[in-house]
Amino acid sequence: MAVGDMARTHYCGDVRVSDIGTTVTLFGWVQNWRDHGGVIFIDLKDREGIVQVVFDPSVDKEIHSRASKLRSQYCIGVTGRVRHRPEGTVNPNLKTGEVEVVATRLEIFSECDHLPFPVEEYVHVNEELRLKYRYLDLRKPRMQKNLITRYRAAFAARRYLDSEGFIEIETPVLTKSTPEGARDFLVPSRLSKGKFYALPQSPQLFKQLLMVSGFDKYYQITKCFRDEDLRADRQPEFTQIDLEMSFVNEDDVMAVTEGVIASIFKETLGIDVKPPFKRITYSEALKRFGSDKPDMRFSLELKDLTEVAKRTKFKVFSSVANNGGIVFGLNATGCADFSRKEIDDLTKLVSIYGAKGLAWIKVKSNELQSPIVKFFTKEEMNEILKILDAKAGDLLFFVADVPSVVYDSLGALRLEIAKKLDLINKDEFNFVWVTDFPLFEWNEDEKRFEAMHHPFTSPVEEDLEYLESDPARVRARAYDITLNGVEIGGGSIRIHRSDIQRRMFRALNISDEEAQVKFGFLIEALKYGAPPHGGLALGMDRIVALITREESIRDVIAFPKTQKGVCMLTDAPSDVDVKQLVELGIKVIGNKK
Ligand code: ASP
Repeated sequence: MAVGDMARTHYCGDVRVSDIGTTVTLFGWVQNWRDHGGVIFIDLKDREGIVQVVFDPSVDKEIHSRASKLRSQYCIGVTGRVRHRPEGTVNPNLKTGEVEVVATRLEIFSECDHLPFPVEEYVHVNEELRLKYRYLDLRKPRMQKNLITRYRAAFAARRYLDSEGFIEIETPVLTKSTPEGARDFLVPSRLSKGKFYALPQSPQLFKQLLMVSGFDKYYQITKCFRDEDLRADRQPEFTQIDLEMSFVNEDDVMAVTEGVIASIFKETLGIDVKPPFKRITYSEALKRFGSDKPDMRFSLELKDLTEVAKRTKFKVFSSVANNGGIVFGLNATGCADFSRKEIDDLTKLVSIYGAKGLAWIKVKSNELQSPIVKFFTKEEMNEILKILDAKAGDLLFFVADVPSVVYDSLGALRLEIAKKLDLINKDEFNFVWVTDFPLFEWNEDEKRFEAMHHPFTSPVEEDLEYLESDPARVRARAYDITLNGVEIGGGSIRIHRSDIQRRMFRALNISDEEAQVKFGFLIEALKYGAPPHGGLALGMDRIVALITREESIRDVIAFPKTQKGVCMLTDAPSDVDVKQLVELGIKVIGNKK
């Protein structure tokens, strides 16, 4: 790599003791500038790290004088001799901490204006400002490391899938709606005025068609687009490692997925994650952990008290338990000394999930302290204490409600107590498969069933007969992969018969006509020798965020959007010329903010 007659010999971060006595040429940005008794020192930084460069007037007056004009983030080239740092100035925290480069040549390629924020690692900068000047933000070592890790993760996935015989095939971005439960982004067509493409919510339908074509093992690392309402840490465009295979069952897809994940963790963190991963059914996950993405790094399991609750005279419990609801408890071991305020805060937490109250019992060595103990007989109380394995010093919590409220609220309470008690090992990577999902989910607002995964997921064979008569009991051949309580991917064995696909659409209240208009091409394709097939997609952004220990996926995406879907850097989405709208046959109506 050369600029004019200056050719780079090293990255800044790669200069070592073994280079002492040689001449090196480096390109980079001035990170730090200081003058010590007439000698100028700078930290020169590039993507691989930092090295100290010295401008000594006794070596070269003219270069020293030009170096005195350097400022933060100037882009420069330096040639110089590598020497040992003088005694007492060695920096053991730097890979290049034992050496420095005495400059014999300096080229200033670009000066740098007054910076909107210091390009230094640990200065807190408002995120919108970081995103507006993302190219400066990305100069920070942490961001460079994150994007390099992301690249290495994608590379490891590709290498593994290639070694397993997978072929990467691109699918269209301008396409027709592929439902994954979100709103579509639409793109107006100029050539077919008044018509629209949809950006893919995933490559789902195309990858299934590729199976019909006989590609057998497909993958793609690709962008997906979902126009969702503001939700924490989502991006309107995000990346999936998407794969599909023919002639497979659940175990086959899971094994390949585990291989992809193992390769990624080995490549990026040097960790062996040791498949096969644990498996738990959806219903067990809810009952034991109150979540379909259980964090199983700690136990603190929920316990079912519905049977005792049915028998007790305590109305709050018995009326729920006898009317289709459930009563579950959680033993916060050793928390009997929680204050009133702490319990009030936890009550507020569960109310977010719809719980109307949080009953509690403090187990002291000689008594039970609780507003509800008096409502139970001694036998009932003993039974409850036994189920919860209660000992002196424990604090027991209870929620009685419809199942979804009980699971959500106690699931959240479980996580909160684990945090409070410091039960979570932050260094652990705990992978869990969740299986046996229901095929449908009831949408109370729209009073109809929705596909829990997507409408192309195969029902479990023996449940097929209930597709029309009792959809709620039909299980799906679907599986999710979770890591430390976060869903990082999901997939299913698909429907490969057009008659079953039609029945599935009907069960979803999609008429034959509507199904024909929206998915006619798929139903048709399934008639021409479609192989049994299945697959899965992993959320690339989320996985890299977990690997780099970033809280937000925005920190592992080069140019992310804000939570409002705005690109601070380019100002997208933005107004367009009236002329463009006319060409598209589009008239904008409604409020323009
Ligand atoms: N298309 C699905 C999704 O985006 C993944 C799959 O079923 O393979 O969640």
